[in-house]
Amino acid sequence: MTDHGLRIDLAAIAANWGALAGKAGAARAAAVVKADAYGLGAARVAPALYHAGARDFFVAIASEGRALRHCLPEDARILVLSGHMEGEDLTGLIPVLNSPAQFFRDRATRPGGTFAVQLDSGMNRLGFEPAEWAALRDEILATGPVLLMSHLACADEPDHPANRQQLQVFRQMTDGTGIPRSLAATGGILLGEDYHFDLVRPGVGLYGGLPFAQAQPVVELDLPVIQTRDLSPGESVGYGYTWSASRPARIATVAAGYADGLARALAAKGGLRLWTADGVACPVVGRISMDLITVDVTDLPKVPDTLSILNGRQGVDDLAELAGTIGYEILTSLGRRYPRAYS
Ligand SMILES: *Cc1c(COP(=O)(O)O)cnc(C)c1O
Repeated sequence: MTDHGLRIDLAAIAANWGALAGKAGAARAAAVVKADAYGLGAARVAPALYHAGARDFFVAIASEGRALRHCLPEDARILVLSGHMEGEDLTGLIPVLNSPAQFFRDRATRPGGTFAVQLDSGMNRLGFEPAEWAALRDEILATGPVLLMSHLACADEPDHPANRQQLQVFRQMTDGTGIPRSLAATGGILLGEDYHFDLVRPGVGLYGGLPFAQAQPVVELDLPVIQTRDLSPGESVGYGYTWSASRPARIATVAAGYADGLARALAAKGGLRLWTADGVACPVVGRISMDLITVDVTDLPKVPDTLSILNGRQGVDDLAELAGTIGYEILTSLGRRYPRAYS
């Protein structure tokens, strides 16, 4: 094992799944593992979640589902959120059909095949609109969908009126069907019982991100120091010479940059720090470049071999805040070049 790279805590992911499943009461908890389990590696994450008890897995597109099919036992259901697109091989997968066109394509090419249905309760992104659903509802219900689902647009804002409105629309579209229903992702689980229905679909909360504030942190990232240099007052660092030493300074250069998902925006406002193993914070100075980040280590008695950018003190959502984005984007941007260690 290398001493740098991404450390991904599968036990913490399993614990977060268990905690969210516990909040969902009688509803079954699925696991959303799209985008390679939010960048953390679906081939390792999904089996760990299966082991924890998850049996329903959501991916975004069929190719993700096909890759995942080899990693999970047969009794795991893999649902494809983009539904049935033209020419798609859905063997072993369950498409979540999003439109009349997808429904007719699916029935024509996979007669009798298992499917779910997504309804648009207001987000205007994916799913049957109320009028489309009203027109086809009886025909679709007669062919036996395994799940009717919809997705909330504002669940991370508990007081947003859209939550209640979408809940009401979803109920109107699905009450009395007798088919299992699903509305809540991580945010929806936290909105309470009314939103849980039969199946919940947590994603980001499994990976330690907001809005699940009680989540256990899942990822740590240590970057190797590849060179250290001493600067005289007035010397500058990096592209654009945006930072200059105001005192004799020592600068460490670490091997990661925006090509590894550490966006330039992280350092634009100041406030980004890298940490020693003993918890000493060192400010990033100058611009983040494609493969390198420069850190002011003047105050360290000794420059360590690695510095940490993701840890218990500076988590995924802290980086998101610095970069003006959300934890989801930080996670899914984590580069492919890091050595990875799972525990
Ligand atoms: C991504 C996604 C989820 C998971 O959402 P989180 O906010 O990450 O929990 C659930 N359902 C659908 C339809 C999604 O697209």
